[in-house]
Amino acid sequence: MTYIKRITMSGFKSFGNRTVSVRLAKGFTCIVGPNGNGKSNVIDALCFALGRMSKKTMRAKSLTDLIFAGTKTQKPASKAEVVITFDNKNKEFPDDSEEYNVARWVKAKGTSGYTIQGKKSTREQLLNVLAQANIDPDGSNQFILQGRIVELTHMNTGQRR
Ligand code: ATP
Ligand code: MG
Repeated sequence: MTYIKRITMSGFKSFGNRTVSVRLAKGFTCIVGPNGNGKSNVIDALCFALGRMSKKTMRAKSLTDLIFAGTKTQKPASKAEVVITFDNKNKEFPDDSEEYNVARWVKAKGTSGYTIQGKKSTREQLLNVLAQANIDPDGSNQFILQGRIVELTHMNTGQRR
């Protein structure tokens, strides 16, 4: 089974006008940290790059809300881009390389698009390669969001099962 090796965010939400890379390990990953430090923004980045359409799950009114809005001292970004690097040692993705990159971007003017292995592609092509690797971008078993954890803790044993 593949896993996400890296999430690379440029101009994305609170990560500012720069490129931030988060390396992940195999198996179960949990993102923890102080309130408001950007944990959920990492998950929003993940959802964005996997081609999710629901802006609500990315906590944005429009896709351009995902672009770093700037601060008193920093200029806003003109583009947000997220690259997800999957492990491809077992060739789950249709390419001979050891890593497989899928990316999505949005510009301040409102245009947006996808790239696969650095090449311009369509959302359909993205969903196809994800499906080949058994990744459901809406799969609630693969990505467990903050609200869902609270729900799980409030369920009784029957509901949880
Ligand atoms: P909590 O512990 O409350 O769940 P968190 O670690 O999940 O917090 P996030 O929700 O990921 O934190 O980050 C919130 C921060 O991101 C806020 O300070 C918010 O202002 C900032 N933020 C959101 N969108 C943008 C944007 N487009 N540009 C700049 N900052 C943004
Ligand atoms: Mg959060």
